[in-house]
Amino acid sequence: MVYEPTVATGYPGVMRILRLSAWMSVLLLASSCSGGEDTGGDPTTEPAEGSSKEAEEPSEADGEAEEPDAGDSELEDADPEDSDPEPVSRASMDPNSVHVLVNKQNPLDPLDYSPDDLRDVEAPSEFGEAPLREDAAEAYEALHSAAAADGMDLWATTAYRDYDFQQALYEQRFHEDGAEAADRVSARPGFSEHQTGLAVDVADLEDRQCYLRSCFGDSEQGQWLAEHADEFGFIIRYPEGAEEITGFQYEPWHLRYVGEETARDVVDRGLTLEEYWDQPPAPDYDQEYEPSS
Ligand SMILES: [Zn+2]
Repeated sequence: MVYEPTVATGYPGVMRILRLSAWMSVLLLASSCSGGEDTGGDPTTEPAEGSSKEAEEPSEADGEAEEPDAGDSELEDADPEDSDPEPVSRASMDPNSVHVLVNKQNPLDPLDYSPDDLRDVEAPSEFGEAPLREDAAEAYEALHSAAAADGMDLWATTAYRDYDFQQALYEQRFHEDGAEAADRVSARPGFSEHQTGLAVDVADLEDRQCYLRSCFGDSEQGQWLAEHADEFGFIIRYPEGAEEITGFQYEPWHLRYVGEETARDVVDRGLTLEEYWDQPPAPDYDQEYEPSS
């Protein structure tokens, strides 16, 4: 079933408060080591300007990209004369594409984007619901079943988070700890992969020690995901040691759906999504954050 638009763009008040307070607890517990985008989405206060412009001109950013042959940022044609194997997909700035690139240099356009094909995954979730877009939900269910068959106990923590929710999370941190600290552990609204409906955080709820922490990567579940997630179209979006490219520290719990072919190719080549799609690194935001309150 599909979420009604009204549900997709905002959780009912009580649910929102419950989830927000649950996440605040997570933030406090996890402190800076886990966070990345998990704690927050990443909104932008100035939805109108710089961000949307940048979203349309991803190739103009000045970082270096690794794939010299990729050329243009919009997916499309491969160069038949190039002997290097072409990526099976290109970055998209269309928020409805499973290949949408979202990072600190590429916000969603529009900033308050909300997918229209969200549905709850039919798999265990920590907060009683974990909405993903249809294709991602189906893929996650297959992943969860395969993990369970291998004896892995995996829980979805949060999946889709809307702009307002992400804004509340981010600004809570922003007001408490300042912009710099907030940006390290939380994504601004409009800049979070969770707002695409294509990302899900997973955890082993039996092991609170490594809940949304890098040590999850050493757990049985973390290892299983690193080995098998791509078979279901997911990648570990923020790999270890790639903070200067992805903008976030190692998050072995954060899965991003990109489709099976792309996921396998990304993993085979051992690249970040930015490198794979020949996009500039996105270590930081271009603009200062202006809180809504
Ligand atoms: Zn996440």
